[in-house]
Amino acid sequence: MRKDISLILGKMRRAAGSPSVVSDANPFRVLIATVLSQRTRDENTAKATRQLFERYRVPKEISNARLAELRELIRPSGFYKVKAARIKEISRQLVERFKGEVPMDMEELLSLPGVGRKTANCVLVYGFGKPAIPVDVHVNRISNRIGLVRAKTPEQTERELMGVVPKKNWLEFNHLMVRYGRRICLPRNPKCMQCEIRPNCNHFSAVVSKNRFK
Ligand code: SF4
Repeated sequence: MRKDISLILGKMRRAAGSPSVVSDANPFRVLIATVLSQRTRDENTAKATRQLFERYRVPKEISNARLAELRELIRPSGFYKVKAARIKEISRQLVERFKGEVPMDMEELLSLPGVGRKTANCVLVYGFGKPAIPVDVHVNRISNRIGLVRAKTPEQTERELMGVVPKKNWLEFNHLMVRYGRRICLPRNPKCMQCEIRPNCNHFSAVVSKNRFK
């Protein structure tokens, strides 16, 4: 059954509280923070990003920094040896290939080491305010549970979402889903009985019918 996306987004906005999406206005910081966020908790990403940017602000500085110091600064983010080498290489390439600026183009972003579609889309949305749909764990999980998409990979989820979510909602979509995923549609034990979306949710329908026929 086709989902009423406006209805679903409206319910999410009300439940999740939805301040407008804040663009960081610093695409480089968004890019590095998203790389640091891989496989770590938000609070650790925030701490590592803060420590790094208190010391260094632009690609040229990070490309010239000592690897040992970068590792210490970003240590809270986990996998800090790999990530330190990666952000140094990304910074070097930004200086050499893009005059020290973060490109605003998907293909160019994807050409940077360790930058996949989620990171590139985060840079477009949160760094440049350009409509895109970053698919993180929350977006992937909730979209599939509700039945907005039936996808096996984040890339497939992104492609299908681009077909069902109106472009005017792309900027807010990730932000809204992340907030909803932290408060209501939790990874384990989603709070379905507090969720207004349940009449529109495939996961909930499946749970209800399973219990009915027990
Ligand atoms: S009904 Fe449950 S599974 Fe469906 S969106 Fe709400 S919390 Fe998530």
